[in-house]
Amino acid sequence: MRVAGIRERLAALGALPEHQARVLRDWVQGAPHERGRRRPNDYLPRPVREALPQLDAELAGLARVISEHPAEDGSARLLVGLNDGQAVETVLLPRDGVCVSSQVGCAVGCRFCMTGRDGLLRQVSSGEIVAQVVLARARRPVKKVVFMGMGEPAHNLDNVLEAIDLLGVEAHIPHKNLVFSTVGDPRAFERLPQGRVKPALALSLHTTRADLRAELLPRAPRLAPQELVEFGERYARLTGYPIQYQWTLLEGVNDGEDELDGIVALLRGKYAILNMIPYNTIPDLAFRRPSWERARAIAASLHARGVLTKLRDSAGQDVEGGCGQLRARAGRSIPL
Ligand code: SF4
Repeated sequence: MRVAGIRERLAALGALPEHQARVLRDWVQGAPHERGRRRPNDYLPRPVREALPQLDAELAGLARVISEHPAEDGSARLLVGLNDGQAVETVLLPRDGVCVSSQVGCAVGCRFCMTGRDGLLRQVSSGEIVAQVVLARARRPVKKVVFMGMGEPAHNLDNVLEAIDLLGVEAHIPHKNLVFSTVGDPRAFERLPQGRVKPALALSLHTTRADLRAELLPRAPRLAPQELVEFGERYARLTGYPIQYQWTLLEGVNDGEDELDGIVALLRGKYAILNMIPYNTIPDLAFRRPSWERARAIAASLHARGVLTKLRDSAGQDVEGGCGQLRARAGRSIPL
């Protein structure tokens, strides 16, 4: 179910744009019981009020929590079932954030990622993306939504941008707190500036070497790291918020002095933050996590050389914290 489809359905019942907005706002703000009540200026037409119980049931059925896995750092990973038996992961982040999935599986096939191993199974609809936020909001406040869960958001642009528009306009989430993450797809650079809600942008860099990037991210667009940063810089200047460059730190792969020099050459002076995330070891994959001390030394040295660097841990380390691990463990299809 897409957000556009919900709007069309309501319009067919006589709902004006402001009525449609109210129904969608009540959904995402978790107040369906308020619907249909008279309030100044937003009285819903009778056919719309009569259709609301059915619509409520359908929206509630879009996504459900199969299991919840709280971690010591304050995050919690949710295994979320969709109504065709597929499942995605949604992560409640510390400090009122939620990380949502935009695809079941992913076609990019990053070598260090569990989600990429299955390829793309299907797109997640805009309704299902918003439903993940609604599930999160039922558990804790949500002031930030990051599109960094399973999938490459740029491969599901229409649905992701529809969800971003709804969250930015009707849920009043500050636009810079909606974070679109991509490996660097030119279609995203084309479409994001056109939206009325312009999200912040996170770009997966991971290496400054084009050959290594092609190896690690085999089906990412063949943009050289330099081009990626040029696209990013243009978008940062347009929106007024910095680009978040993501760097999964892999021991012996992208943690050498050559890479650190490359990072300084690429990012010093740019409107950017480098998020350095030590790899979360996955038993089935050969990559290794560097020690925390080593990661801290790398981050400190980059910082001292003029690159604003933040060392982060992927949320939920102690509860199958790698992208796609919960789903992989649960099996590919979850019984209804
Ligand atoms: Fe896809 Fe992200 Fe995993 Fe790469 S890291 S395969 S883009 S989900």
